[in-house]
Amino acid sequence: MAEKIFSMTNKLDYTTPSNWHAYDVEHIWHPYTNIAEPTPVFPVASAQGVTIRLADGRELVDGMSSWWAAIHGYNHPALNAAIETQLQSMSHVMFGGLTHEPAVRLAETLINITAESLQYVFFADSGSVAVEVAIKMALQYQVARGKKNKNRLLSFRNAYHGDTFGAMAVCDPVNGMHSLFSDVLPQHYFADAPECNNQGVADVRQVSQLIEQHHPSIAAVILEPIVQGAGGMRFYCADYLRQLKALCEQYDVLLILDEIATGFGRSGSLFAYQQASIEPDILCLGKALTGGYMSLAATLSSEKIAATISQGEPGNLMHGPTFMANPLACAVANASIDLLFRSGWQQRVNAIEEQLITGLAVCKKLAVVNDVRVKGAIGVVELNQAVDLHWIQPRFVEQGVWIRPFNNLVYVMPPYIINPEELKQLTSAIYNVLSEMTAIAPRELSNC
Ligand SMILES: *Cc1c(COP(=O)(O)O)cnc(C)c1O
Repeated sequence: MAEKIFSMTNKLDYTTPSNWHAYDVEHIWHPYTNIAEPTPVFPVASAQGVTIRLADGRELVDGMSSWWAAIHGYNHPALNAAIETQLQSMSHVMFGGLTHEPAVRLAETLINITAESLQYVFFADSGSVAVEVAIKMALQYQVARGKKNKNRLLSFRNAYHGDTFGAMAVCDPVNGMHSLFSDVLPQHYFADAPECNNQGVADVRQVSQLIEQHHPSIAAVILEPIVQGAGGMRFYCADYLRQLKALCEQYDVLLILDEIATGFGRSGSLFAYQQASIEPDILCLGKALTGGYMSLAATLSSEKIAATISQGEPGNLMHGPTFMANPLACAVANASIDLLFRSGWQQRVNAIEEQLITGLAVCKKLAVVNDVRVKGAIGVVELNQAVDLHWIQPRFVEQGVWIRPFNNLVYVMPPYIINPEELKQLTSAIYNVLSEMTAIAPRELSNC
């Protein structure tokens, strides 16, 4: 155990990164890590454009957009200016009983660019909280209309909706930590992951049976449209969404779409649900909302839902985070959306898609590779075995790229500003590292 000095004076030498880096390893939890066997973490000095500069001077081409968020790259002058300007007037005020221009402007924009029926915005402080609020809205809506028994959700295998308890309960029940927390998690219904045939026709038999059988106890269906993200990086066709929407209407079940990962152009359309020409009842946004600058999310709902909740008991939507609608976050979100619309994102995403298709195709011939798939600015190489982060993460850094695989998935979703040479560095690095893995894989496997 480290000795405590009960003083504000730092003992560590912060002039050499290796010094404070060791303290990180000893004291800080990183996402999904184990302190006994920490996977490597790399000290970052700065980030600019699509480049992450490590403390030791090495430069990495960013393939992750810091988990779908940094769509315009890092340290963008327009986004920096938005925060600096907002900082001059106020960094934060409570949203209970007070309001401000950045929040109203952002609400107006979100209502204008999303489905026509979406008319009310709840600002949350993270994606998971936006999902909690969406679930709460659906449940309060059903209670308000006297349908108390409609108190379950229907979700999907391979879904990912966040790490808080309500959100976790609608994540994939097998890879989503359910067994660990089964006694405390609410029990929901799960349909098979959305599937389509090669002609883009969906098979909804199983999910429609579930809805038909259980609709008296289903408040809402929740899913990630077109792209299932962190629960498996799977893509499915728009026809699935169209048919699911029809089922929801037929059986009086709300449709919650979680576009926290797909929103703002990532899947090739501004919002993924637009590919199906449907409208959700409730929509969750996050991640790229602020261009990756600050934590902010939003839950939008139709007027019908907002009005019904408000007429029922207790009448109020029962949520209110301390940092709700933080002005700095709203200001940078406004600047990010403005920049997105001025940036020609559609051509950029299309060009990234084309180059990912050609650049990753060679990976198909590697023995460790199961599948290669691309959708919008998302490229996925699925392996037939889980990667060892201890081995693979330093390999990618040596190749000059920042790519963070999980389980058996090596994937990229670069900032939209990436140029063809930089994107080529990403796809070549994936091929090189996976070739190396193919060469050693049989030996590693025989050790198991
Ligand atoms: C990341 C993500 C979340 C959770 O967002 P956080 O900001 O990490 O809480 C929820 N849903 C989807 C689809 C996501 O990709």
